Formats: sequence, structure tokens, C-alpha cells
Amino acid sequence: MVLFLFCGCAASPMYSFVDAFRDNQTARKLTKYIEQLSNPGRTYRIVHVCGTHEDTITKYGIRTMLPPNVEVLMGPGCPVCTVPPNRITTAIRLAEQGHTVTTYGDMIRVPAAGTSLQDAKARGHDVRIVYSIHDAVKMAEKTDKQVIHFAVGFETTAPTTASELAAGPPPNFSAYSAHLLIPPAMNALMDQGLTHVDGFIDPGHVSTIIGEQGYRSVSERHRVPQVIAGFEPLDILFSVAMILKQIQEGRGEIENSYKRAVKPEGTPRALKLLDQVFRTVDAPWRGIGVIPKSGLAIRDEYADHDAQTRFNVEEEESYEMPGGCRCGDVLTATIYPHQCPLYNTQCTPDTPIGPCMVSHEGSCHISARYGVQPP
Ligand code: SF4
Repeated sequence: MVLFLFCGCAASPMYSFVDAFRDNQTARKLTKYIEQLSNPGRTYRIVHVCGTHEDTITKYGIRTMLPPNVEVLMGPGCPVCTVPPNRITTAIRLAEQGHTVTTYGDMIRVPAAGTSLQDAKARGHDVRIVYSIHDAVKMAEKTDKQVIHFAVGFETTAPTTASELAAGPPPNFSAYSAHLLIPPAMNALMDQGLTHVDGFIDPGHVSTIIGEQGYRSVSERHRVPQVIAGFEPLDILFSVAMILKQIQEGRGEIENSYKRAVKPEGTPRALKLLDQVFRTVDAPWRGIGVIPKSGLAIRDEYADHDAQTRFNVEEEESYEMPGGCRCGDVLTATIYPHQCPLYNTQCTPDTPIGPCMVSHEGSCHISARYGVQPP
């Protein structure tokens, strides 16, 4: 069991802005309020889609503070775990053709069809980890080789890809876009009945870009309570209370409890850049399948820097998980990681089997990191 420890003290000279969001007494009041708002005769399933939210929830033992009938599960919020295997095998093929392939740290370890970019690197292919796409552009400036950046991530990372492409990178640089969008995935969970959702905690980072308005399609389609939340323990508890309050009052609206960072309109400059460089396309998600209008493909105007057109990339169809791995159920908020029979036995952070244990933002890795055990 994870212990819930708040160390904030308003009287302390070291008291900071962040401590206010970790205050023990306020947390107790909020959990009491959550108890009052929840009807013991029913279950509430609240889904969030953010690795950083999952980190806070697990690290501070938020689930242990909630009434047993109020569940909070993580859905498809891990940017690395949700990349389907066919995208990874395509990136491997590009490296095998003799090009330099760059991507972010966690991505190279993610398994796909029995291999990974790390395996390709071990076989002598030029696969490199970068901290940002800008590093990959700089790399291209210093070589004659083709440098292809395997661009993954949600609305938070995609603007950096758009910015580099719009700025005119060197001719030997291109991006292979596997960027995905969060609101269509939230819709897919409900459209496809993949899991029961009583309310969404909307992701703070994504929300800074897309704003409150970015979730309108979800509320128009499903009239489900949504609360945009920050990343401190009280942010999470407060958002749970706000969702329960909406349910009690029969509302299904978008509310913003993270106004200190998220504006209703988001970040218009980033949104404009996304629209300038990308078009939305149907895209495959690991564990879910193809979700309509959930991916970002590079527009024709930037085709010179689009690896998919430049290298005539043909993607295979494959969305499978490694044998026995229930990451698909984890990504659709159907089960908690500890409900996978391989969790912390064969599959650990040191010996990961599925993508949810490979990535630091995957809920299996987060659970194992903080020592969550099956009850
Ligand atoms: S614990 Fe490992 S095998 Fe099980 S769902 Fe998570 S990643 Fe897959």
C-alpha cells in the first residue's frame, strides 16, 4: 500500500506556492466532501489520460483516500505506450535503410513485433536518443546523411515538431509523424464502449495547448463531466470532487480547475502552428486500433520534410501486444496494472514486457515504481 504523506505547513518559513496544493488539512476536508458527494449505492469510474496525473495519484496514494466506490483509472495517456507497433517497425526499417533515426529516450525500448529500435541500434543501425526535435535538426546540419526524427507525443509535443518544420530545417532532415490527439481518444473510449466513464480528469499539459475549448467534441457527444486538472495532490482531489458534484447535479460540462495555467482558448499560437503544418487523419493507437481524426500527418506543403512521403513509407497493419500483456486493457482504463497476471512478476521496470512497463509515463511502470501491490 502506498502511504499518503503531505509535508506542507503554512507556518513554516519554507512554505511555498506548491505546498498550498499539498496541504494535509485541506486534503482531509476534500476527501470528506468527496465522501458526502458520492452515493454509496453506486460506483463511479473516473478516467484520466495523463502519465503525470497518474504519477501524482500513485505517488501520493490518492486512490487509498477515496471511498471504495470512487475509482480513478488511467486511460490512453502515455504518449509512448500508445504508439502502435507498425509505426515502430517502420522507424526500424528507415534505420535499416542506412538513415539516422532519432527519437525520445523511452521510445527506443518499446517492443514491436519482437524487436525494438534499441535492438536495431544494437545491430549497428544509427538510432539515436535526442531530448528534443531541435537536437535532431542540429544533428542534420552537421552531416550529409538523412536524419529522420520519429516524432511521437500528444498536443504538447506536436507544436515543437510543427515549429521546426515551419522554420525550414536542412534538406536532409525529415520527420516521421506518429503524433496523436487526446480528445478523439477520449471519444473513442466512450463511442466504442471500451470502458465505462462517469467523468474525465482532463490532462493539464495538453490543456495548456488546446484549452477548455479543445474538449468540446467530447462534451457535445457524450455530455460527460470533465474537469481540467493540475498536477498536485489537491488538484486531483478537487477535480474528483468537481466531477462528483456535476454527476450529483446532472451536469456534463467542461470545468477548469487549473486556471493558473490553462486558458479557455489554450495557446492560439501553438494551435495555429499545428494547423499550418499538420492535417488530422485517422490513426492507429496501440491497444485500441484506428481512431478517426486522432493523428497528425504532415501537410503537402511540408512534404520535403515528411519521411512518410519522402521515403515512400508503407506501414504494416499490426496492433498486437506481446504475449500475455494486458497493456491494451490498461490503456483503455479497463483494468489497473496490478490486475495483469504478469505485473511485477515476469514484467518489471527492469524486465519490461509491454509498453506500459517500458515508459516512465506508462501506468504499469508508475505502479511498479511506487510499489503498488495487488490488494
Ligand atoms: S504489467 Fe507488463 S505485461 Fe502486464 S499489462 Fe503492464 S506492461 Fe503489459
